[in-house]
Amino acid sequence: MEPSYTSPPTPPTEAYLGANILVVEDESAIQELIALNLQQAGHEPKLASDGAEALESVRESLPDLVLVDWMLPTMSGIDLVKRLRANERTRTVPIIMLTARADESDKLLGLESGADDYITKPFSIKELNARIKAVLRRRAPQMTEDRVVFKALSLDPGTHRASANGQEIDLGPTEFKLLHFFMTHPERVYSRTQILDQVWGDHVFIEERTVDVHIRRLRSALEPSNTDHLLQTVRGSGYRLTAIA
Ligand code: CA
Repeated sequence: MEPSYTSPPTPPTEAYLGANILVVEDESAIQELIALNLQQAGHEPKLASDGAEALESVRESLPDLVLVDWMLPTMSGIDLVKRLRANERTRTVPIIMLTARADESDKLLGLESGADDYITKPFSIKELNARIKAVLRRRAPQMTEDRVVFKALSLDPGTHRASANGQEIDLGPTEFKLLHFFMTHPERVYSRTQILDQVWGDHVFIEERTVDVHIRRLRSALEPSNTDHLLQTVRGSGYRLTAIA
């Protein structure tokens, strides 16, 4: 059977935000086809041909999702996934493995090594897009355009609107992303570094106190609706959105 990489991309049926996706694949033809299709689906692909290049790319900027081919030269896809999972900064990055092997035991090995999902080659671009969306929804719900509700707060990424008790909240773009992140990850404490990685996408060039500045702005925006207390400072740890305030 011929691989179906060339099947035309289907437009996404539901809107979702474009993700930075690292494609780790040594076969350049497949790499380029995946990249082209990801672009057409609204994502921003970055390319790596082996594990070392992938680790270098991740050090430069943290992707929203990693597609890893199983069969890579030097470092196998499995070993790369293990390395990403062993590192504090990349521990939670969503990972999908691509492989030519259809064997069930290999599939188990792939998932046990820490991949979130597994796609057997040849796959259709439609299937790839559906898996990406499902993994992002599960692992990085702030990357989707699903409407989120938390207590009196409601946020709609599609229309870029947020409200509290039915009253619209006026938010800058960063405060909007911050609130979106917290609303999709309630009741968990996030450090400033984690917040930078998750909301700004890359912690390298931004100072941690930038987070405090935007948290302050977000709280002032929430103050008129008396919902600012939901966003707690956890001394020595970071910030948390909580219903138990
Ligand atoms: Ca390969």
